Amino acid sequence: MGCRVGLEVLQSGGPALDAVEAAVRQLEADPTFDAGCGSFLNEDGEVELDASIMDGAKLKAGAVAAVRRLLHPVTFARKIMEKTDHLLLVGTGAEKFARKMGTKFCPTTALLTGRELGLWKKLRKKKGFHAKTVFSGHPKGTVGAVALDSWGNLAAATSTGGTPRKMAGRVGDTPVIGAGTYADNTLGAVSCTGWGEGIIRIGLARRVLSYLEGGASARVAVKRAVEEMRRRVDGYGGAILVTPKGQIGLYHNTPRMAFAYSDKTGDVKAGIKI
Ligand code: ASP
Repeated sequence: MGCRVGLEVLQSGGPALDAVEAAVRQLEADPTFDAGCGSFLNEDGEVELDASIMDGAKLKAGAVAAVRRLLHPVTFARKIMEKTDHLLLVGTGAEKFARKMGTKFCPTTALLTGRELGLWKKLRKKKGFHAKTVFSGHPKGTVGAVALDSWGNLAAATSTGGTPRKMAGRVGDTPVIGAGTYADNTLGAVSCTGWGEGIIRIGLARRVLSYLEGGASARVAVKRAVEEMRRRVDGYGGAILVTPKGQIGLYHNTPRMAFAYSDKTGDVKAGIKI
């Protein structure tokens, strides 16, 4: 489970950035989720991945969009953050830099599951299909992690295969800092999932933090931001939050959102519905 992996990093004194990266890597490798292996296919039957990571101490971030054949785009996003002056890389340039960094590419088949191939075949010819409807029914989605370490540093990371039958080249909220991911040591760390177009339009991750700035508790801040997204852009999704004091917030307006969290005690609480 991603949460346990992240927790081990934190318990052994590791930084929040390592914890969120480790947790997301674990979930990218797990075919249950729409990230890395198990991702939705786009309309061409390809897997195109988006990911981002943010360091709340320095407000530094790295992101990659629409990249192919990487099992762990979150690690590549971190390389972009740490080894370049840029924040977001896409397309052939991203692939070129990945090769330069020695990042291992995998065949598309390593990211593909029979379940997603079946869904792609089913949706391929469906008339009037809208990706948003997926979020009111489909039980899987993007993966994300937020963490607070023993030095008080916060970090967030998110990784996704996007939405089913998306256009080739479509980029969702996940690599958009302030939309799918945000971390600021003075406020909180947030990772989001759901219908990306709505999440970007409302700037969901940063909006959660705006509610905190306005005095809301962690729980209420996430709920208000997700409800506002629904009200203003008819958006569906959810978010997870941790504050500098270790308060946790999570909320979704989709039927389900798998989650797990822990605190200093090391007890893990997990569920698929709040
Ligand atoms: N937010 C992702 C996207 O729109 C999809 C998801 O969360 O499942 O790309």
